[in-house]
Amino acid sequence: MKSFYQLCVLIALVVSGYTSPIPPPSDTDRESIAENYLTKLYGLPKHTSSDVERSSSAMSLRLKEMQQFFGLKITGKLDDNTLEVMQKPRCGVPDVAAYSTFQGDYKWKKQDLTYRIENYTPDMSVAEVDDSIKRALQVWADVTPLKFTRIYSGTADIMISFVVGDHRDGYPFDGPNGFLAHAFPPFEGIGGDAHFDDDERFFYRSTQGYNLFLVAAHEFGHSLGLEHSRDPGALMYPTYVYRDMDTFVLPKDDVDGIQSLYGPNKDIDLNPKPTPPVTPNTCDPNLVLDAVTMLRGEIMFFKSSFFWRSYPLSASVEQHLITSFWPEIPEHIDAAFESLLEDKVFIIKGEKVWALYGYDMAQGYPKSLNMFRLPKKVKKVNAVLYDETSYKILFFVDNQIYSYDEEQRKVEKGYPKPVEEVFSGMTGQVTAAFQYKGFNYLFSGSKMFEFGAHNKKMLRVLNNNYFLPC
Ligand SMILES: [Zn+2]
Ligand SMILES: [Zn+2]
Repeated sequence: MKSFYQLCVLIALVVSGYTSPIPPPSDTDRESIAENYLTKLYGLPKHTSSDVERSSSAMSLRLKEMQQFFGLKITGKLDDNTLEVMQKPRCGVPDVAAYSTFQGDYKWKKQDLTYRIENYTPDMSVAEVDDSIKRALQVWADVTPLKFTRIYSGTADIMISFVVGDHRDGYPFDGPNGFLAHAFPPFEGIGGDAHFDDDERFFYRSTQGYNLFLVAAHEFGHSLGLEHSRDPGALMYPTYVYRDMDTFVLPKDDVDGIQSLYGPNKDIDLNPKPTPPVTPNTCDPNLVLDAVTMLRGEIMFFKSSFFWRSYPLSASVEQHLITSFWPEIPEHIDAAFESLLEDKVFIIKGEKVWALYGYDMAQGYPKSLNMFRLPKKVKKVNAVLYDETSYKILFFVDNQIYSYDEEQRKVEKGYPKPVEEVFSGMTGQVTAAFQYKGFNYLFSGSKMFEFGAHNKKMLRVLNNNYFLPC
């Protein structure tokens, strides 16, 4: 018989500390955060003092599994990046199927399912809760033959409730943040049910707190039989990531997952639907990057809604949704660069400029592109290169370059100049640029062109993913 723990476990989408720094935990706190996380989510046996050695090797093994799941560097040690992921808002369902009973074929044997909202959170109006739940179910109904009917009494397949602390299913909630909700896979009784932690602040339309629609849509994925995905763009990724509910389109990874259980929606597939977003892949030979910048020693590569974060020293690369770090920053950015004078990273899209101070949003942005004193006719830049030796900022606008002197706060005389005049041999449209270890790298199409920093002589033509292991 399966244990209750195995059957349950839920979800905790936590909202984030991503825009406000979390004070670093002490060593004891670090250990207990890790132990709690791995015990609840990765099957780490409860620690016993009589067996310290086995316990620490068990811990290391579980850490490796967790690091592998999240695409972190696999060290088996509790490093800062690993701890950072553990402190993110997330779902409480185990990530590795072996630690969950959800392995195997949990699916409903019928297509017409019922749901019932048993009670309400005081955070939102009744109409907002009703709409969030309805839309969250519709996400799945749109791409499958499943239909959801609301009932107001009796037992529904999916019973939905807002509860706090110990609510007598063996999986107590943990107060604000941490686990936000949990849901059970399809089976009789509690199967399919979704519980939301009412110690959280749920919101209808907001980048703050937890968006109930997003949390519920993820939970209902479990209610229908899905496990967690390692695709950082998937709705079924374990951590909470803000997205705009009005433009939300179920990502391809989730569509493939749910259709493998229930098949497509034959009705709706006849109508044009938004294309499910696909998470960009470093192995894609046609990958064209939007922007590249340094950020305090790391290299950030932006592509559509995502960025890769590369740590040159550890040769590891992580991929995240932009909104998982900065809900304010749009997708498909035009350019990004790190100013050493200001110690900020600037992110440009259209005529708007955002700024990051470290990983935090800088106050007072977005500002207008006018801040760089470019001619008024410039409404969009294609790429920006920051020259660390001269504090000059090169703006690529179509096939021309403007050089902005950061100390003098003005565009240098003699500009714009054709790109080819500054970077000899660079004939294609530049989409991204950055300087690294004394070289300039310009991206055009799926290629990256390496130039000397001083003489700007073309040295090598490389693939786009030269710095992004495939
Ligand atoms: Zn989950
Ligand atoms: Zn529960």
